[in-house]
Amino acid sequence: MKVTQLDIRPRPPETEDKLAIWPFWATKMRTSSSQAEGAIREFQVGTLEFVGEDGVLTGVKCCQVDEKRKPIAGSEFIIKADLAFIAIGFRGPFNDGVVKELDGKLTLNTDRRGSTNVVANDRDYKTSVDKLWSAGDVRRGQSLVVWAIREGRQAARAIDEALMGASVLPR
Ligand SMILES: Cc1cc2nc3c(=O)[nH]c(=O)nc-3n(C[C@H](O)[C@H](O)[C@H](O)COP(=O)(O)OP(=O)(O)OC[C@H]3O[C@@H](n4cnc5c(N)ncnc54)[C@H](O)[C@@H]3O)c2cc1C
Repeated sequence: MKVTQLDIRPRPPETEDKLAIWPFWATKMRTSSSQAEGAIREFQVGTLEFVGEDGVLTGVKCCQVDEKRKPIAGSEFIIKADLAFIAIGFRGPFNDGVVKELDGKLTLNTDRRGSTNVVANDRDYKTSVDKLWSAGDVRRGQSLVVWAIREGRQAARAIDEALMGASVLPR
């Protein structure tokens, strides 16, 4: 059995440049014990499509990507595969529910990130739809629970102010 791990990002440096990366997580080549067991790692590779026969996976069509993660023409190749795992993290809130329900009726502005983050600022948390507020992951994208709590509290106050003219809730 062979395992190939594809990464759309460039191969990280062997040692981190802490000054260049601060305040973000210092990027460097890290190898887990599972990867050390023999996984093949490919960097700057985009996945284009699954390839199959009679509904059964036989490969993954890939290509090299440039620094903007755009496919490089003519660089396509196929990796034979009988199993593919997609492990790309959180892509955005589900597109059903209120976002879908409003589609075509009222203009609910969403942003580029996953196209379903519901746009609002972090002062009044108002969306483009009257009496609809957004806070937490659905506003800022996948994040941490401390942000969700903070935004939830601030949004509650903003909603109270908007509905009652003033709020007794703490800032
Ligand atoms: C696997 C995983 C691990 C994580 N680990 C951590 C961690 O270790 N530490 C950390 O800080 N953060 C972690 N997070 C992130 C954290 O869970 C989120 O940032 C946080 O829960 C966001 O809170 P929220 O209230 O914005 O959204 P959510 O917690 O997603 O709450 C949204 C709620 O709205 C409900 N809902 C959706 N649509 C409707 C509707 N139409 N009507 C009524 N209700 C609706 C949903 O059922 C849900 O209960 C993790 C997230 C995941 C997915």
